[in-house]
Amino acid sequence: MTGTRYRQVGGGPDALYGRLKAYEGRAAATAGVGKDLVNEPMIRHWCEAMGDTNPAYAGPGAIAPPTMLQAWTMGGLSGHSDRSSAYDELFGLLDGAGYTSVVATDCEQEYLRPLRPGDEITFDAVIESVSERKTTKLGTGYFITTRTDVRAAGEPAGTHRFRILRYRPAVRARGTKPGGGPEAGQDGRNLRPRPVINRDNAGFWQGVAEHKLLIQRCGQCGALRFPWLPGCNECGCQEWDTVEASGEGTVFSHVVMHHPPFPAFRTSDDAGPYAVALIELAEGVRMVSNVVGVPHGKVRTGMPVRLEFLRTDPELELPVFRGSEG
Ligand SMILES: [Zn+2]
Repeated sequence: MTGTRYRQVGGGPDALYGRLKAYEGRAAATAGVGKDLVNEPMIRHWCEAMGDTNPAYAGPGAIAPPTMLQAWTMGGLSGHSDRSSAYDELFGLLDGAGYTSVVATDCEQEYLRPLRPGDEITFDAVIESVSERKTTKLGTGYFITTRTDVRAAGEPAGTHRFRILRYRPAVRARGTKPGGGPEAGQDGRNLRPRPVINRDNAGFWQGVAEHKLLIQRCGQCGALRFPWLPGCNECGCQEWDTVEASGEGTVFSHVVMHHPPFPAFRTSDDAGPYAVALIELAEGVRMVSNVVGVPHGKVRTGMPVRLEFLRTDPELELPVFRGSEG
């Protein structure tokens, strides 16, 4: 589990904190029973998912990976019937005060005894601590730590501490990301998401920089393809060159985006909803783009369009298609 960095920039004891604090030490689950005995199939799936090939976890005499400790106590979608009312009450208080968001921040485990296939798991869980109100980059809220004491065949086997932050999301300036991520514009506007450029499609974006829309052409069968791929869907050949699109096309299909509103995709000539179109190029391949110069309600299947390049911000230029009617 990855930790979440936080910083305290304010907060302190408050009335709600006193009520939350009263839940410290109360049971979150009592006399819980693991839904399965410790077993080889779950161990094998875990090791495959983690890429853990340690021989201690396979074959005769195998033990379970210690970090699986929590897995044996999980209730799954149907949950455990032994969950206490204190836990629900605590979360009800937080919900009622507006602390409705949750993020898992970290966990700590202590191992006391190896777990082996056939071990029956039992556990008790307690609300160990509730922090004072803290303000993090996500928002203001309370860290809640739950401790689960796990037993195997009646013996103490380990302890699992799980910490979450229950918070009220930070109110932030319209159109910015928390903490000001790379998508937050300097002027506060949302910028369009950046394309992921890799060695398979770098040539396409190089073409865009030169105001050319390049289509890949198979070196063996000559099939045109778009979007760019390492190999040919028709024959599998990995040799290719490019042809430059003429720029003529038609709207093959389209949708109009109404909600959720996404300011980055609004255009100056159509400030509300916008059309996302599948354009069929004259060469026969299709690409997803925007239709500009036509109100979103006037975009029609079969409408002729022509390529142009739209600079959306100082660092991004995109091929878009201008409608010829409307
Ligand atoms: Zn081919």
